[in-house]
Amino acid sequence: TGIQELLLSRIREIEDHPEPGVRFKDITPLLADPEAFAALTDALADIAVRTGATKIVGLEARGFILGAPAAVRAGIGFIPVRKAGKLPGATLRQAYDLEYGSAEIEVHAEDLSAGDRVLVVDDVLATGGTAEASIQLVRRAGAEVAGLAVLMELAFLQGRARLEPALAGAPLTAL
Ligand code: 5GP
Repeated sequence: TGIQELLLSRIREIEDHPEPGVRFKDITPLLADPEAFAALTDALADIAVRTGATKIVGLEARGFILGAPAAVRAGIGFIPVRKAGKLPGATLRQAYDLEYGSAEIEVHAEDLSAGDRVLVVDDVLATGGTAEASIQLVRRAGAEVAGLAVLMELAFLQGRARLEPALAGAPLTAL
């Protein structure tokens, strides 16, 4: 469709970043184009409304940039999931495995509640580890998962298959 072509045309590929052999998808040209950024924001807000989301959870750091304007547009709240050690209040923490080693993410426990339906938003879905840990955090906070929405899915890494059990039927949309 038109929007897919517009969005794809504004993603720049950078060879060998952050390490040799990786072709990094750089979304900054998209952010710099107001038409493309607005189209993406509207599409994410549409998904939030369609899935009945009451909150958007954005994943540090680019999930903040995409998720926050979409939450405003959809008329719902925004909640940041951050790398461990950044949030000042009482948090829930979730560890997940990386290719080498592991990482931890956190959310403010009080910002999510049992009645919430959460749309998780990030820029790129790669192996699915970050999204999987975020979904686990949302559930541990007592909230429901309305879905996962990303700008781009790197299908060859098979994150979608990995996320199937965690999503438990909630939709994964890659714009
Ligand atoms: P995963 O946990 O799915 O392996 O990695 C996804 C996370 O790493 C996301 O938070 C995403 O922002 C980041 N990421 C991985 N590869 C890329 C990439 O090529 N481009 C961008 N912009 N982010 C990436």
